[in-house]
Amino acid sequence: MRLVFLGPPGAGKGTQAKLLRERLGIVHISTGDMIRDTIASQTPTGRKAKQFYDRGELVPDAVIVELVIERLAQPDCSVGFLLDGFPRTNIQAAALDRALESAKLSLSVAVLLVVPDDEVVRRLSGRRICSSPQCGANYHVEFVPPKLSGKCDLCGSDLKQRDDDRPDAIRRRLEAFHQQTAEVAAYYRATGRVRDVAGLGSADEVHRKILAAIGA
Ligand code: AMP
Repeated sequence: MRLVFLGPPGAGKGTQAKLLRERLGIVHISTGDMIRDTIASQTPTGRKAKQFYDRGELVPDAVIVELVIERLAQPDCSVGFLLDGFPRTNIQAAALDRALESAKLSLSVAVLLVVPDDEVVRRLSGRRICSSPQCGANYHVEFVPPKLSGKCDLCGSDLKQRDDDRPDAIRRRLEAFHQQTAEVAAYYRATGRVRDVAGLGSADEVHRKILAAIGA
């Protein structure tokens, strides 16, 4: 199966993608993680991407499209893949269709996780991540608090907030979603490839709804 996950930041795309990867045995590609790796590599592309990332803005289409197409060409993607965080613009969606067509493949379906804005702000502003790169455990000050405030339960490292989870960056990310990414849903809807799934409820409940929606 070749899937894309659409939805606002904080919709649970990452969590649901991991559950689907385990269930379907497909490769999970998070473009947010790819961008963070590229920034950490401190290459010219990474330095360029950082300027956009830190402001909560989308990185330029040409940069992200090249990274994704290179990744999809890796042999492990032949079993199927799930793109999490891509495409976010019509240009990216069209580039993905062209790349798949030239490999005589096509997208199975686009899953749209629907979550209201106020819920997105609540989820993202409380998110905390373990600062140890080897650990990287996720917490939430309200929903999944650590036992000791500000410290990772697993390794004791300090917890940090992602730069783009600060309130002004969240606002910009939501604006970017509404202005640009919503049109991607329309792009797929026009060819009958969208499955809308309400992203509220427990992770397991949402997972079951997704499986039903994609017929897996
Ligand atoms: P995420 O972790 O998916 O919320 O992505 C974090 C950040 O990475 C975004 O705010 C963008 O700066 C960048 N990014 C990730 N995916 C894309 C994409 N498909 N197009 C442009 N920028 C992206």
